[in-house]
Amino acid sequence: MTVNEQLALFEGAPSTSAKRRSTGKLSADLPSPGGAVPNAPLVPIKRPAGMPAGCRWHEVDTPLQTIGFMLRTSRRKTIGLTITDDGLMVTTPAWVPQKQLADVVRSKAPWILRKLQALHERQQHLATAQACWQDGGKFPYLGVYVRLAIRPEIGSAQFKGNVDQPSGRDILALPLQADSSMDRVRERVYTWLQRRALDLFDSRLQHYCRLSGTTLRGWRLASPNARWGSCSSDGRIMLNWRLIHFPSDVVDYVVAHEVAHLRHMNHGPQFWREVGRLHPGYAQARQALKPHHPGSLPLL
Ligand SMILES: [Zn+2]
Repeated sequence: MTVNEQLALFEGAPSTSAKRRSTGKLSADLPSPGGAVPNAPLVPIKRPAGMPAGCRWHEVDTPLQTIGFMLRTSRRKTIGLTITDDGLMVTTPAWVPQKQLADVVRSKAPWILRKLQALHERQQHLATAQACWQDGGKFPYLGVYVRLAIRPEIGSAQFKGNVDQPSGRDILALPLQADSSMDRVRERVYTWLQRRALDLFDSRLQHYCRLSGTTLRGWRLASPNARWGSCSSDGRIMLNWRLIHFPSDVVDYVVAHEVAHLRHMNHGPQFWREVGRLHPGYAQARQALKPHHPGSLPLL
C-alpha cells in the first residue's frame, strides 16, 4: 500500500485510475492517522518548489482555512484527492467547473487537513532527526540509538559493539575531518547503514525463502518514500533500506511479508497464514511499523 492516501469522490462512479494505481503495490500497510480537526491550529500548506509536470497551483477558501493544492486535469471520470509528499494533489476531469471543484474541496476539508497535518508532522520528525549528524550525535540502527564519533585518525568506519545485536552503548566511528558538515556525516552514516542493510536483508531473505520453500529471482535495496517493500509478479523483491533503523523483528516482518508474496500475490487469508507461519510474532512488528513513514527517520 502506498502512502499516497486517496479519496475517490462521486461514490458509485467507477474510480478506475485510483484502483489501477493501487494494485500491484504489495507492501506493509501504512498508517492513516486519525484525530479531529475542529479547533486545530492552521495546517501549514506550502506550494512545492518544483511543481510536477502538468500541474498548476490552486487555492480554495474553506470555513476551516484556505487550502492550496496541485491541480491536474485527466481523463478519469471522477475527482480524485491524493496526499503526496508535496501536499494535496487534486485530479479532475477537464469538464468539471471551478465551482464544483471548490465545493468538493470544501466538503472534504476536514479529511484533507487531517492528512496534511499528519504529513507535516512526519516531515517535522525528519527535520528534527537531522540534527544528530555530528560527533556525539545519535542515529537509529536496528531499534537502538547508536552514538556517532568523528575520528580523523582512523582509516575506515569502525563499529564498536555487536553489529548484529547493537545496544545503546555502541559507537560508530567515522574517518572524517572534525569540521565535516552535517550533510557529509549523514552521507557517510547512510552509506554504512545501506551496506549493513544489504548484508542483513540478504541473509534474512535467504532464511525466509528456505523456510517457505520458495526461490527468489532477485532482490534490490531502494529508498522509496512511500513503501517499505514490494514483490513483483515475476518474483523480485524490493526492500527499503530505511528498515535498518528498526528492531530486527520489524525487519523480519517486512522480509517475511514480501517472501509470503512469492506464494500469494494478494493480502488474502492464505497470504496472512503464510506470513504467520514464517514469522509467528508478526502482528506486534506490524503494529510497531504502522506509525512510521518511510520518508522519515523513525523516532524510537
Ligand atoms: Zn503485501
